[in-house]
Amino acid sequence: MTYQLPDSYMAAVIRQQAGQFQIEQVKSTSIRDDEVLVRVVATGMCHTDMVARDQVFPVPHPIVLGHEGSGVIEYVGDAVTNIEPGDHVVMTFLNCNKCTACYEGHPAYCENFNQYNFSGQRNDGSHALIADDDTELNDRFFGQSSFGEYAVANARNVIKVRKDAPLELLGPLGCGIQTGAGTVMNALKVTPGSSFVAWGGGAVGLSAIMAAAAIGATTIISIDIVPSRLELALKLGATHIINSQEEDTIDRIQEITGGGAQFAMDSTGIGKLVSDMMVSLCPRGIGALVGASKPGTTAALDLTDIMQNCKKLIGVVEGDSVPSILIPVLVDLYMAGKFPFDQLVTFYELKDINQAAEDSEKGITLKPIVRMQSDDIFTTS
Ligand code: NAD
Repeated sequence: MTYQLPDSYMAAVIRQQAGQFQIEQVKSTSIRDDEVLVRVVATGMCHTDMVARDQVFPVPHPIVLGHEGSGVIEYVGDAVTNIEPGDHVVMTFLNCNKCTACYEGHPAYCENFNQYNFSGQRNDGSHALIADDDTELNDRFFGQSSFGEYAVANARNVIKVRKDAPLELLGPLGCGIQTGAGTVMNALKVTPGSSFVAWGGGAVGLSAIMAAAAIGATTIISIDIVPSRLELALKLGATHIINSQEEDTIDRIQEITGGGAQFAMDSTGIGKLVSDMMVSLCPRGIGALVGASKPGTTAALDLTDIMQNCKKLIGVVEGDSVPSILIPVLVDLYMAGKFPFDQLVTFYELKDINQAAEDSEKGITLKPIVRMQSDDIFTTS
């Protein structure tokens, strides 16, 4: 039996640089053999959507953004064997699965990452979406473009999740939350009983704090300038907080840890803070840089300190995760009460997506999630 694609459905379209999201009717054009159609339940919003909206990161417009989607599989292409209709999924970034980084189990460093996630089209130049008046739309953002009621994804970037988990909450596990938690678990490999510092306590920094607590770090320091975020960090597992506008961060870290932190992560992307992060590490300490900064941003490093004390600075994308491994683990931790990322979330309806963007940019919300189909409640099987 031939599957009938939905006639048309609502999606949020960006038509001009730094413009508003416009709710429009769109259509799916076709689904390839290795693709799936997802009925989107909800999609998290992240800074990367904003930099794509504003074309700081050069994605083509008009485009449907959204890259932290969760939903139910509606249809699978003929070649898809890992997933079936009715499965609950989280959508994540897309990788090529045929470069050295992918073969070595580091899909976030896929050599073709930009082509697969930011080109606005499939590799052959085609689109899975079209506007209702049949004019061209760019799509394939993170292999999903999930700010809409449906999304065409690839079988490789949909991760099956357990059906008793609250599906509308899970989308951010596909990017922002995976980034913070994965940096702690995969890239830094924070150990039980160790010290960890999160420089920046937004959604990414707080996810790192929850992950560090979950795996048993015993000194966990949150640094931020927003008192409410520092207070929340304490509830999520931080043992100490530092307001960097009020205290000397390096002195305080030295004092709390008794000689420097073993592990640290910067999610601010501010050069001075990255320098301070490296100074505040103990000998053989490791710092991870995940915060996005304007290309060309630099940070001063004391080379003798780095050399003599054998310190390491690593850049990390998407927590260096294999999403099909990490995302189900994070869902299990959440369900066990050990990774309470729902504390970061504020829900919005699709019609209020511009409010979600504004609240996120003003720092009013930590992690907005936009519900696509508010009449659906997919919390149980
Ligand atoms: P966010 O803006 O909510 O978090 C940044 C935090 O840094 C805020 O809480 C802010 O108050 C704090 N901050 C700003 N200046 C500070 C200062 N001087 N001292 C201490 N704290 C300060 O953003 P987020 O959602 O947590 O994302 C963090 C960054 O990670 C963004 O740049 C985002 O683009 C990036 N990101 C990277 C990846 C990746 O794969 N590397 C993935 C997702 C997000």
